[in-house]
Amino acid sequence: MRKKIVAGNWKMNKNLAETNTLLSELTTKLKASSEVEIIVAPTFTNLYSATEVLKSSGITVAAQNMHEAENGAYTGEISADMLKSIGVETVILGHSERRAYFGETDQLLANKVNTALQHEMTIIFCFGEELQDRKSDNHFSIVEQQLKNGLFHITKANWKNVILAYEPVWAIGTGETASPEQAQEMHAFIRKTIANTYDQETADEVSILYGGSVKPNNAQEIFAKTDVDGGLIGGASLDAENFSAIVNAI
Ligand code: 13P
Repeated sequence: MRKKIVAGNWKMNKNLAETNTLLSELTTKLKASSEVEIIVAPTFTNLYSATEVLKSSGITVAAQNMHEAENGAYTGEISADMLKSIGVETVILGHSERRAYFGETDQLLANKVNTALQHEMTIIFCFGEELQDRKSDNHFSIVEQQLKNGLFHITKANWKNVILAYEPVWAIGTGETASPEQAQEMHAFIRKTIANTYDQETADEVSILYGGSVKPNNAQEIFAKTDVDGGLIGGASLDAENFSAIVNAI
């Protein structure tokens, strides 16, 4: 059975003290459970502290990005080896904000995917259409292209290290969420595309998270859909009460 996962993407929020406060609130509110995997992604400067604070809490830590090269003259960048050396085993790749504001292309993401896999990291691979794509009824083909170009070069065996996060750009930080039916329709399409490209077993095993304005008041109905295996939460993950409520909604 595929895993249920709730992940918090904190984006560029929370300094060290604020990070430690939120983490300690989360460890009080959330108990390790075999039913749902909980992941938080603080910013780079707070990852080490987060791995220390969360040791044996059952909550794991992810980075929000990393560079594709092993090391070298890439001022300001962070490598897979650096992440692993502080106990970070998971990385978010392909978030729409990275694609939109930092020019991350499918090809670059394919390279980052390869680097993460070489380091045996788990990847939360994000993708999703923009509003104009949905309005012009191109959302399925855009999502298919993003998957094919950025991810579908991996082997069947690599899929055990992959979590997918469908995040329609028009629903991110806007308060406008995809309806549970829209989420289900897209998640089913994604699973079918994986089954067609790889096989049914691979498609059935991968967790597909929904992201985009998930809040305590809408999480349950979205998570209840057959092909929605959890969520990637932005704004609502910055508050322990809200994030715990969303985790409990699963
Ligand atoms: P919001 O939950 O703030 O819409 O952000 C979603 C997101 O981008 C998570 O990666």
